[in-house]
Amino acid sequence: MKVPLLDLKVQFKEIRTEVLSAIEGVCDDQSFILGQRVADFEEDIARYLGCRYAVGVASGSDALLLSLMALDVKPGDEVITVPFTFFSTASVVSRLHATPVFVDIQADTFNIDPEQIEKKITPRTKAIIPVHLFGQCADMEKILDVANQHGVRVIEDACQAIGAAQNGHKAGTLGYSGCFSFFPSKNLGGVGDGGLIATNDEALRELLLALRVHGSRSDYHHDHIGLNSRLDAMEAAVLRVKLQHLNTWNEKRAKNAADYERLFAEAGLLNRVTLPRTVPGNVHVFNQYTIRAKKRDQLMGYLKEQGIGHKMYYPVPLHLQECFQPLGYQKGDLPVSERMATEVLSLPIYPELSEAQMGLVVETIKDFYINH
Ligand SMILES: *Cc1c(COP(=O)(O)O)cnc(C)c1O
Repeated sequence: MKVPLLDLKVQFKEIRTEVLSAIEGVCDDQSFILGQRVADFEEDIARYLGCRYAVGVASGSDALLLSLMALDVKPGDEVITVPFTFFSTASVVSRLHATPVFVDIQADTFNIDPEQIEKKITPRTKAIIPVHLFGQCADMEKILDVANQHGVRVIEDACQAIGAAQNGHKAGTLGYSGCFSFFPSKNLGGVGDGGLIATNDEALRELLLALRVHGSRSDYHHDHIGLNSRLDAMEAAVLRVKLQHLNTWNEKRAKNAADYERLFAEAGLLNRVTLPRTVPGNVHVFNQYTIRAKKRDQLMGYLKEQGIGHKMYYPVPLHLQECFQPLGYQKGDLPVSERMATEVLSLPIYPELSEAQMGLVVETIKDFYINH
């Protein structure tokens, strides 16, 4: 592979000593579940995000699931979200035997179209889950407006958007709760699975602290039926180290995006590819650099041959997934999501990417279009 989609090894080389010493500390303590290290990380990240509370959990998917459990989402309830996202945004709704209701996205941001939410709200709607896809916030002002008018909670899926912001507020701090993932490929990645819920609501925080440990507030006394979904001390210790680098890494991703913009323009490719658009007021953290490309499938074949890392996020919109067929959606129901699935292509954008590597990515794409 000449240019990988993501190279975590180069990042690790730069922070090896700090990370290994954090891991060593946890091993020396032999205290692996919750404890001071998790509390310290929760405090640091709440400060980073500018919210009152942060609750560490086992994954981003569990952050979403626990947020819905805290709202007592149950069979018959509906939760509005998008079909153009990672699977778990909607599967957590079905896990609780509630119904995901899909709203289409905007082609220029890949995020929920706020104008289409209201017509999907019913008396059974419990929550809206906007996804801040690829690292850019959905239009939270409009989403919160419609949610507040109808007394519906907003749970932000900020799994790809840690550090992103809208009008000065960080992603994940504007809704009732904000869900984050520390899956290794996210902008803040752990040494395994991990997740977090941000909130400004004290009652929600208390409930989440119980729900992540089997619904218990004191040992062996259970007020709720919860999960075993804790952030490990090992993850917390490593993430606390990596959090100190997050701004630098996010800034480097944004710089890479700006460089791509220049390189694609210089290569005369702007009639072949549509580059990601950052909406004014948004800080985009580019978990993915996702373009829309003419002859996308052929281009992917060429990039593969030439050793240029790339991936399709996401090839099948959720309303057309086999497991969601009982929901009754058909091809054509959510046309923008369906079209995006045929056009999108994510290119390498990780912070340590060199200028030469980015040049090669664009050069290779240019070579393809010269012959097609
Ligand atoms: C990664 C991701 C999740 C799930 O996070 P996990 O930690 O892998 O469970 C949910 N939603 C989106 C948009 C994601 O990118």
